[in-house]
Amino acid sequence: MCPITSPKLSEGAVDFIDEGRLSSLLAGPPPQPQAIGDIIAKSLAKEPLSVAETSALLRCEDPELIEEIFQAARTLKRNVYGNRIVLFAPLYIGNDCVNDCMYCAFRRSNAEAIRRTLTPDEITAEVTALEDRGHKRLILVFGEHPRYDAEFMARTVRQVYSTTSGRGEIRRVNINAAPLDHDGYKVMRQAGIGTYQVFQETYHHGTFAEIHPSGTRKSDYLWRLDSLNRAMEAGCDDVGIGALFGLYDWRFEVLGLVSHAVELHEKYGVGPHTISFPRLQPAHGISLDRFPLVNDEDFVRLVAVLRLAVPYTGLILTARENAEIRRRVMEFGVSQIDAGSRIELGGYAQDACDTQSTDREQFELGDVRSLDGVMRELLTDGYVPSFCTACYRLGRTGEHFMEFAIPGFIKRFCTPNALTTLMEYLVDYASPKTRQAGLALVETELEKIPDSSEKADLLNRLEQIRTTDKRDLYL
Ligand code: SAM
Ligand code: SF4
Repeated sequence: MCPITSPKLSEGAVDFIDEGRLSSLLAGPPPQPQAIGDIIAKSLAKEPLSVAETSALLRCEDPELIEEIFQAARTLKRNVYGNRIVLFAPLYIGNDCVNDCMYCAFRRSNAEAIRRTLTPDEITAEVTALEDRGHKRLILVFGEHPRYDAEFMARTVRQVYSTTSGRGEIRRVNINAAPLDHDGYKVMRQAGIGTYQVFQETYHHGTFAEIHPSGTRKSDYLWRLDSLNRAMEAGCDDVGIGALFGLYDWRFEVLGLVSHAVELHEKYGVGPHTISFPRLQPAHGISLDRFPLVNDEDFVRLVAVLRLAVPYTGLILTARENAEIRRRVMEFGVSQIDAGSRIELGGYAQDACDTQSTDREQFELGDVRSLDGVMRELLTDGYVPSFCTACYRLGRTGEHFMEFAIPGFIKRFCTPNALTTLMEYLVDYASPKTRQAGLALVETELEKIPDSSEKADLLNRLEQIRTTDKRDLYL
């Protein structure tokens, strides 16, 4: 059993999940159409919704009202994010773990898991393989283990940034790992991380206690709930929250996420940069029978409601979901997806193609298509896949990220940066078919931009990428 120290929480830390209130909000009667219309109008005006307003959206039963919610989520996504989708890949660094989370194949009681921590040489091989496919943004994933302390993770981050291959480089490294203390977050910040993600898994206290056995580090609900408050206090103002859907009632978890976003915003003037909503997947040695899994219809609904509740927060949809559901959910407000993902340790360098080995991975992936295949589908569907990393490199994070909300910001920065990073992919990595689809889409997007000095500048940068070695021409 792992010794549990008494760590320092954030200033005035409290358990801000008022379970009684969330449950009673959800138990209310179905809302009137007028009330839903008002809430949707507020969201379309790009104002975040309160927990109570979100609960009204979740209580809708009338199919027409539910359709209105979908329609509004589509519109909001188009208005705030346009047709861009940011792409990234997960890189699992090590699966040693002191916890015993009942849903995860890395849990310490899973004697059949093959435990492995990538060596520096293996990390180089993985990063090189990812760069050679065209990735620019990674999320590093770690089990919870004393070996994976902040210093270790920071060293790994630095190694990833310094690994290059041809024209390939990683420009943003995000982290999904255990909660840290203040000093740990400072170390991570100095290493130049992007977002630090910690998922609460479930906001429901009883369920949290049941699936995280007492005596394990992860059984401390408040330590985890408070983790990103500590990150904020330590200067990491780019944080991601998440819930593992399927552990408890999905409506309750949505209210938990919104409560969490409200808490961060009220305390630090900035909400989470991203929200993740992984759905519980089959994993080695785990029976899903006991869990209230979320069906596809409810999953699509929860994404639409989240979109409306937090208009400016990035929503991340992972390859846990299959290609079909990913395609469906994307239009309701997803802003980032992973592609070409391998979650078995060392999977990219081995080029595991479309096979998975479940004794090496945390759960089964639903979408194992290559990055190029996903890119081609996105392009054909009219999305602009983006590898942009400009904001965090120019310090546009935290409260400054709200510049995003300034009228014209997207047109001035996001669209050009998306197109230049897309052009890099098309020139350096795309298959002939994907390149053809991509060049056609770039032309279509350029036609939408009126003649101006900004457009001339963008055309010039695209031309440089097409005809020279110049890369990373961001605004
Ligand atoms: N070990 C760290 C932790 O637990 O916070 C971070 C990495 S953990 C490998 C990343 C996330 O994977 C967890 O937060 C959990 O939400 C998700 N996960 C675990 N088991 C899963 C499963 N069977 N299906 C889908 N997602 C799962
Ligand atoms: Fe360990 Fe994270 Fe898996 Fe829990 S979810 S067993 S903490 S890797």
